[in-house]
Amino acid sequence: MLQSYKLCAGTASLRVVRQHLHCQTQCIHSNPTNGRTHRMLQPLHLQSRLPDVGVTIFTRMSLLAQQHGAINLSQGFPDYPGPAALMEAMVDHLRAGDNQYAPMAGLPRLREAIAAKQAMLYGAHYDPDLEITVTAGATQGVYTAITCMTRPGDEVIVFEPSFDSYVPGIRLAGGIPVPARLDADYRPDWTALATLITPRTRLILINSPHNPSGRCWQTSDLDRLAGLLRGTNIALISDEVYEHMAFDNRPHASVAAHAGLRDRAFVISSFGKTYHVTGWKVAYCCAPRALSEEFRRSHQFITFCVHTPSQHALTDFMQARPDWYAELTAFYQAKRDLFRSAIADSGLHLQPCEGTYFQQVDYGHLSDLPDHDLARRLTVEGGVAAIPVSAFYLQGEDRRVLRFCFAKRTETLEEGAHRLRLAIKTIV
Ligand code: GLN
Repeated sequence: MLQSYKLCAGTASLRVVRQHLHCQTQCIHSNPTNGRTHRMLQPLHLQSRLPDVGVTIFTRMSLLAQQHGAINLSQGFPDYPGPAALMEAMVDHLRAGDNQYAPMAGLPRLREAIAAKQAMLYGAHYDPDLEITVTAGATQGVYTAITCMTRPGDEVIVFEPSFDSYVPGIRLAGGIPVPARLDADYRPDWTALATLITPRTRLILINSPHNPSGRCWQTSDLDRLAGLLRGTNIALISDEVYEHMAFDNRPHASVAAHAGLRDRAFVISSFGKTYHVTGWKVAYCCAPRALSEEFRRSHQFITFCVHTPSQHALTDFMQARPDWYAELTAFYQAKRDLFRSAIADSGLHLQPCEGTYFQQVDYGHLSDLPDHDLARRLTVEGGVAAIPVSAFYLQGEDRRVLRFCFAKRTETLEEGAHRLRLAIKTIV
């Protein structure tokens, strides 16, 4: 807690926010130049809901990369455009006047396209009217699912390392985050998990392909989880935004396809990752009827509805290109292979990457530098930015691991790898 506070304390934006928060209530002061009195602002007694939370590591590393002209392999987003036909469809719909509120749950034609996709890929049948909701990005989908299920004091189990939005979402809902540590190979420890389940456990959050480790759960993992949850009243949130980035001919094991889990699960995926448009912030949540009803009760007040022209454009593209998903898997697998071979002789130890668009490396055998320090020095001195993986742990545990994003053009990856090889020699 102290560590993350210290880390954020240096950022200008946070200082501004803090000053601002201290200047809210009013008192009377006189102006010596004109003798007039005016109201000055004085501290408001603000009690933050997230007092130990700073600006996210993704924002900070991208900013640092920008300030130092570094190749940005930190925050996960592509540096290439989405498909031209998708862009054209967006412009067409903007021009055609599809610019007013969409229905709260999402455009019916998009929900139908999502239902068709889930059936085609996973044999999963969701009713587009009642069981699919379009959200403003997967982070909002996960947040809404947490919020609608969690009452104050409920326990929510998260596997760590975990994506940075999960725990704050649980805390904002009044829930108690319960970390379930993945082992050194980023696999779940089922025996330990069983001991974490209590009568107060309300939800479990899972994420495969897993950010940051790239580990993918197989059907056997879902079977184990289903066994643990059988007979309980525990719901599941499954973040599957990297579903099309599961490599080496091992298809993504979706919770949507799992008979033992589907009925208790919110399955969330995103168009941002799939179509290289992370800035569009359009995603969706599939859940059985009762869960979707509960989800929509909150969703309608958190977001109400999502950007209309994007929804139309995405529907057009999904209908035109059902073959996109398989191509995407091959596209990212080639990027993974390129990046791995480009840094193979860097001295860093490459961890396995079964999925996502992230490659983790560990460097404990080379240096004792904390991961935040190494990430910073690589960016500032070496000109290549990465994410320190301790940011994904509740207590900031530092296993001396960095995460690199390989959703980048070949030139970017080659230059980033070149800089990394040089920087590692001089820094560690
Ligand atoms: N999901 C992306 C990542 O892990 C970006 C997240 C973000 O910037 N909030 O890098």
